[in-house]
Amino acid sequence: MSKTFFITGGAGFIGSAVIRELIHNTDNHVVNVDKLTYAGNLESLVSVADSERYTFVQADICDAPAMQQVFEQHQPDVVMHLAAESHVDRSIDGPAEFIQTNVVGTAVLLEAARAYWKKLQQQDADKAEAFRFHHISTDEVYGDLEGTDDLFTETTPYAPSSPYSASKASSDHLVRAWQRTYGLPTLVTNCSNNYGPYHFPEKLIPLMILNALAGKPLPVYGDGQQIRDWLYVEDHARALIKVATEGDVGETYNIGGHNEQTNLHVVETICEILDELVPYKVKGNSHHLPLTTHDSHKQLITFVTDRPGHDVRYAIDASKIERELGWKPEETFETGLRKTVEWYLANETWWKRVQDGSYQGQRLGSI
Ligand code: NAD
Repeated sequence: MSKTFFITGGAGFIGSAVIRELIHNTDNHVVNVDKLTYAGNLESLVSVADSERYTFVQADICDAPAMQQVFEQHQPDVVMHLAAESHVDRSIDGPAEFIQTNVVGTAVLLEAARAYWKKLQQQDADKAEAFRFHHISTDEVYGDLEGTDDLFTETTPYAPSSPYSASKASSDHLVRAWQRTYGLPTLVTNCSNNYGPYHFPEKLIPLMILNALAGKPLPVYGDGQQIRDWLYVEDHARALIKVATEGDVGETYNIGGHNEQTNLHVVETICEILDELVPYKVKGNSHHLPLTTHDSHKQLITFVTDRPGHDVRYAIDASKIERELGWKPEETFETGLRKTVEWYLANETWWKRVQDGSYQGQRLGSI
């Protein structure tokens, strides 16, 4: 039976992938609640905007009356909470917004969900029984790993390093407390680094693709040996929908791509794909001779001072979601990265409008 999903942060990178998946590949309804910060981009949702099953509401999750109104008006079956401030560097420069949205905003949303769910228990016991609140979080709450064989599991103790990860850790604790204390049917997922289409150009992979295309330096922090586990965003979106609809209440599921790569390897691989698709032209060498290192985008790589508190290694043990829910990523790092580079090459209008700020012109449906 068709369900109504209340998605927060649906104009962001992962939220928009979840909405495209729900509208294109299921018969569910979506209410997208997003404040449209700099990270929110309605142009990532052009393909669903005209669907009768899609509604957009511009609102801040910290606004309690607005959240209450969304619950009352749309009577959702599932909440998927993705709205957050999400960029680690920005959290170091200005943590206050991270505490406000990620911690206070999550508490406001939990309270609005609890009030709605309590009412449902009186009015529609079956709907209350089936209601789910799914909180989307990050593997960065676990801090970093020292041993090369260690993996984050669902029981790894929390040890966040940055204001971003500390704010996400706080929100995870709130969600679990609302489940333990009030019985709110919650689920939590902690996922590794995502990459793919519609990724905001300040993040590592799109930044490197677009800088390389513009012939600009490719800034790599420190020695580039920090290891991250990369997951293609559409694989994450499918995993999230599976957890929201089939996961066990009160459970946590780690989601990862089994793709541990050093940052330097990621940047070098992007350069190699670009060398193949858009051969690098060195000034004075207009002949299309076979490539040498000199003719590669790799010569743009520049090492810059490391970020403070930079975690060395993250890696996820995703065996629980594979075993219990039968989810597995469809993309390998190689196939996913190639698709991503190809997407940026084919969607210049999308990223040019992000770069020049014109994407922020669209503001619709606010309450
Ligand atoms: P994003 O920054 O691309 O998008 C966040 C969205 O939230 C934006 O559309 C923004 O406008 C909206 N938003 C911000 N503050 C809001 C507020 N106060 N009220 C309503 N909307 C607000 O983030 P993302 O990369 O799509 O990440 C989504 C979620 O997934 C986050 O919770 C993040 O912590 C988590 N996560 C991200 C990754 C990753 O690699 N990107 C990995 C694991 C988990």
